[in-house]
Amino acid sequence: MSLDAQNAARALLAFWRAAGVDMDAAEAVYAAAPKRASEVQAPATPRASIVAPARPIAPRSRFNSASPVDTARELAAAARSVAELRAAVENFEGCALKTTARNTCFADGAEDAPVLLIGEAPGKDEDEQGRPFVGRSGQLLDRMLAQIGLSRKENVLISNTIYWRPPGNRDPTQGEIVACLPFVERLIELKQPRLLVLAGKAAAHTLLRREDGVMKLRGRRLFYTREALSAPINAMVMLHPAYLLRQPQQKRLAWADLLLAEAWLDELGVQRAAYP
Ligand code: URA
Repeated sequence: MSLDAQNAARALLAFWRAAGVDMDAAEAVYAAAPKRASEVQAPATPRASIVAPARPIAPRSRFNSASPVDTARELAAAARSVAELRAAVENFEGCALKTTARNTCFADGAEDAPVLLIGEAPGKDEDEQGRPFVGRSGQLLDRMLAQIGLSRKENVLISNTIYWRPPGNRDPTQGEIVACLPFVERLIELKQPRLLVLAGKAAAHTLLRREDGVMKLRGRRLFYTREALSAPINAMVMLHPAYLLRQPQQKRLAWADLLLAEAWLDELGVQRAAYP
């Protein structure tokens, strides 16, 4: 394929992905395609005009080299601090959402915080400011956390499952989530928080690798485990503040989530500011 054709194909893929089409299936077909001329099988019916003659395929281009997930894994593994991880995410080109987003929203808060909260995806305000949870749901989140002595300034670091706004605030696709996951996992690994709080379904499902609904997962003491970790990390699921804005009658459950976090943090001896 000529360079122009590759660029056109890349732009088309980015367009479809940005439009919300899950490109995983397409990419799986592409990844499964024979990589070397020697692996190309002649079709049953001769189609000489379509099948290229056997010849060595040109060196792998940027388009068909390491998959975005492999690249993300390499970049994430090389990061030795949260600051390095932030730079790695900012330089990552493997998530097509970056082409439509204004800013990368990696994390906000105290980098050495004992509590790490992961939400879903940046929205319009976050995209404009390049910081997670700064819009209406973020303001509600800050007020909720303040009820148990947590603040971005002192003891919470806030991040997301993906780092770029999906157009029109649609749900992130699996492909987008999977492309960012190595960075999310590395953030947890680097921080080893005393408590990992997963706000909403996307974070809970992605990181706990469970399909249970949020209503079933919330309100429980859970653990986040991975081979790379020396010990399991305390984890809990809470209702997403955006959901609470839509369903204010559920604030009772949100309050119960906060009380669970408070009790757990007390047991863990995590220092917090005086709070109401
Ligand atoms: N909702 C999220 O999950 N994350 C944000 O950053 C903003 C809204």
